[in-house]
Amino acid sequence: MQIFPTIILPALIFLLVGGALGIGLAFIHERFKTTRDPKSDEVLRFLPGANCGGCGSGGCEAFAQKLARGEADVASCGPCTDENAESIRKLVGSNAAVGAGAAAGSQSGTAATSTNNGNEPKRREKKTYRINAEGCGGCGLCKNACPFHAITVLAGIAMIDPEKCKSCGKCVTVCPNSCIKS
Ligand code: SF4
Ligand code: SF4
Ligand code: SF4
Repeated sequence: MQIFPTIILPALIFLLVGGALGIGLAFIHERFKTTRDPKSDEVLRFLPGANCGGCGSGGCEAFAQKLARGEADVASCGPCTDENAESIRKLVGSNAAVGAGAAAGSQSGTAATSTNNGNEPKRREKKTYRINAEGCGGCGLCKNACPFHAITVLAGIAMIDPEKCKSCGKCVTVCPNSCIKS
């Protein structure tokens, strides 16, 4: 039995192909790796983690990255508490305004609109979500979509608990009858 063509040569080919693949993968990883701002991880810790999409960023992580880059205002996150919004503001500087969900004395959620004038964070106008019972078909899509378990469906009609609602607006986007308004 000839050792070179039957054992050594296949082993060499295997090693060469494996090495080439490894180098190729390392190159691709280096070429396409995304740089992640570590500050965004810090910011993310203070966001509610509901991934409701109310901030328009598709999720908390994407929003945290925008905040860290100074491309967003924390006021766009309705569910964010006043305390956490302030922590984020300290982390990212003047780009973050106070979250509406923490508006003083508010039991209902509030929707986000930036009112930051560049220095002083300001609260947004409060927004309360209500369901038009006449239009509600009781499908429960809003209940399932609400990340804060603020909606119940009783006798075929959905109701929002204003104490739990954080004004993220997610229920509005799923209602097939467009009967949730602010
Ligand atoms: S609105 Fe707030 S809780 Fe909802 S996805 Fe955006 S950052 Fe997360
Ligand atoms: S009731 Fe609607 S607006 Fe309020 S927290 Fe739930 S999904 Fe968001
Ligand atoms: S999604 Fe709309 S129609 Fe369905 S239960 Fe909720 S409010 Fe009613």
